[in-house]
Amino acid sequence: MEKILIVGCKKAMDEVCIGCSRCLVGFNRRDGEFERYENETVELTGLLNCGDCPGATIVTRLAQVNLWNKPMDEKITKIHIGPCITDHCPHKDVIINKIKAKSGVEIIEGTHPYPV
Ligand code: SF4
Repeated sequence: MEKILIVGCKKAMDEVCIGCSRCLVGFNRRDGEFERYENETVELTGLLNCGDCPGATIVTRLAQVNLWNKPMDEKITKIHIGPCITDHCPHKDVIINKIKAKSGVEIIEGTHPYPV
């Protein structure tokens, strides 16, 4: 089963984008980039922020997620990058490239399709 981690902007998550509800609703409805899981059993395992500008700690934070989930035998299998990063972050290329280089799982750029 796929276990999904959503990575987003620290300045936007649960502040601008209250409750991160657009990503969560998008996931529940299998809208946007979650459409690919329409006929799959898949779990949302976490919502991780970038660690604040300029996203320098993102690799450490990804490692922390894996460590934090280890006692529960949970392992992230896919990472979705939220539109708060893909559409709005000035550091997005560096952040996304670091995640691609270091996470060891498939990276999907995008989550929900709703206006932000
Ligand atoms: S680095 Fe990008 S994603 Fe992170 S807080 Fe700054 S603007 Fe947001």
